[in-house]
Amino acid sequence: MEIGILFLRKFTSMKNLLILTFMNFFLSHCAQKKIDLTQKPEQQTMENSTHTNNPYYSRTDKTKLNVSNEEWRKILPPEVYAIAREANTEYPFTGKYNDFDELGEYYCAVCGNHLFRSSSKFASSCGWPSFYEADKDGVIYKRDTSHGMERIEVLCKRCDSHLGHVFNDGPPPTGMRFCMNSASLDFEPDSRK
Ligand SMILES: [Zn+2]
Repeated sequence: MEIGILFLRKFTSMKNLLILTFMNFFLSHCAQKKIDLTQKPEQQTMENSTHTNNPYYSRTDKTKLNVSNEEWRKILPPEVYAIAREANTEYPFTGKYNDFDELGEYYCAVCGNHLFRSSSKFASSCGWPSFYEADKDGVIYKRDTSHGMERIEVLCKRCDSHLGHVFNDGPPPTGMRFCMNSASLDFEPDSRK
């Protein structure tokens, strides 16, 4: 009887292990598939057109902006507004700069403030564009306890837009991982300089 129970227990744990292995394979396969499906954006879409009707957009003016969300809502495309002004997060592996390694500069999609240089971008498996260093004059930090988590939110220093979060599990030399939303970023390739 005891041997029977022991066998049953062993069998059950083996079964669990098999299920776990299968789930693991399934999940990693799906994640891989998502990466594969992510297409690199066309050159035309690189020039983020979010600022064509945006009177506050500037890559040189560092003056702090104080614009209400009511006004931003009229100016920004809905997906940029939802993420940058209401702190939503885009789905992993969907952002245009996630699987993207061109050389250039990253600016705030809302106001044009300089945020990152492509040399600090690294291939992270988290599903969002990741950088190990931000322009220290470009970003500010805020404690974020939403969704039952303790995180550090990263915001644009000029317009206070939500960019993403920063974690301390990044690569050298800083050990930081700036996990950003593509919708909050605006990329300018070096080739266009
Ligand atoms: Zn900004």
